[in-house]
Amino acid sequence: MSNLQKEDFSAWYIQTIKQADLMDYSPVRGCIIFKPDSYEIWEHIQEAFNLRFKEEGIRNAYFPMLIPESFFTKEKDHIEGFSPELPWVTEAAGEPLEERLALRPTSETMIGTAFSDWINSYRDLPYEINQWANVFRWEKKTLPFLRTSEFLWQEGHTAHEDEASARERTMRMLEIYKETIEGLLAIPVYSGQKTPSERFAGAVDTYSVEAMMKDGKAVQAGTSHYMGTKFAEAFDIKYLNRDNEHVLAHTTSWGVSTRLIGATIMVHGDEQGLVLPPAIAAKQVVLVPVGPWKKKTEILERLEVLSKDLKAAGVRVLIDDSDNSPGYKFNEWELRGVPLRVEFGPRDLTNNQVMIKMRDIEGKEAVSLDGIVESIQTALADMQTRLLETARKNRQQHEYTHIETLDELKEHIENKRQEGETPGFVLVGWDGTDETEEIIKEETGFTTRNIPFDPIVEKKTCIVSGKLAKHTVWLARAY
Ligand code: AMP
Repeated sequence: MSNLQKEDFSAWYIQTIKQADLMDYSPVRGCIIFKPDSYEIWEHIQEAFNLRFKEEGIRNAYFPMLIPESFFTKEKDHIEGFSPELPWVTEAAGEPLEERLALRPTSETMIGTAFSDWINSYRDLPYEINQWANVFRWEKKTLPFLRTSEFLWQEGHTAHEDEASARERTMRMLEIYKETIEGLLAIPVYSGQKTPSERFAGAVDTYSVEAMMKDGKAVQAGTSHYMGTKFAEAFDIKYLNRDNEHVLAHTTSWGVSTRLIGATIMVHGDEQGLVLPPAIAAKQVVLVPVGPWKKKTEILERLEVLSKDLKAAGVRVLIDDSDNSPGYKFNEWELRGVPLRVEFGPRDLTNNQVMIKMRDIEGKEAVSLDGIVESIQTALADMQTRLLETARKNRQQHEYTHIETLDELKEHIENKRQEGETPGFVLVGWDGTDETEEIIKEETGFTTRNIPFDPIVEKKTCIVSGKLAKHTVWLARAY
């Protein structure tokens, strides 16, 4: 077995996504092609979130991708944050445009402008919508799925009468992100608040869910922002309140992206390649005839019946009756992360059983053909739960809470490097100043991930200044 994942995680990642046929590069830097198997993962992510959003009364809409420059200049922090990453359209139909148009990095400004027209009275509030769309951010460093120049996401935008209801929406969406990412993708996350330097451009407060990859590095898996009245001021989102006064609305926005696909691969994949949680796998079950099956037509017939029954039960299944050898097939479907493999040959037929191999555990198990559909459904559900537990255990092994000073952090990083281990996530005290945060970044390459709502321990002193800690914060290297 290869040990590429352990030796060179980045090379393993690229090899895994190529071998699993998830993506291809495009001629434009940082823009990738989502091939059907990764796009289908995205579709399952969309289904799950749509269900949750609609339960909340949030409806989908679609806004144009091109944003006039004048919209951008209305909110100072927003344009400052995003301008280095914006691609522009300056010409159309052979003529220069009077005003250049940005390819949206987020629809904040477009939706703010629309809200200002649509929201007039407290009776219009809360106004809550979501959009599924592509966005563009010309990133300097890119990595398939995790950080691309064009990516797919959902962006929710809401407007409220007051701060309390806007903050409630902000926190509720973060909770929905945590529940869905843990339930659907089997990725455990830490919820918390971003430090001011990591805030979304123009937000009052940014909250995130942060995940740990198998190599100990962090991925920001989703964000939820409370904008206060800053965007309402910039875009004139005013309404007539219950006392007949014109006042500013409080707004929020929140998003998750196709980065979640990359995170899923990095959390569950192993030396054999992709491991997919059943809830999002394009194919959950592969049926492989084995032994001298071609000589006994009953084998394939029985698998066809099983396939039909599984499909009727809502299981995504395929039969591999190609001419490739069983060994080749096993390897192929393991590389592609199919959660469950059924092997069925003449001996199994005689014994009224199938052999089942789960992608995430060693060894095969004989399972009776009686009640086989239920057995497979249970095995898939068990695997979904097991993946989350395994990911939690992996995460726990790389969480460090004992570090009190910057020197100790450097020593920890160096020790782990020598052991060929990851330095993981480190929970430290922080005095809340930009200066100390910058020192941590410059001297260690670690960045603040978030200030967790319920830290494992409360740290008392700042890791850099030694002063009283204002916050307990997660530090890690991040993708
Ligand atoms: P933001 O609007 O900056 O809060 O981003 C919302 C979410 O989009 C983040 O939480 C990330 O998960 C994701 N995201 C940001 N930049 C990228 C990128 N270049 N590629 C993929 N996903 C991204």
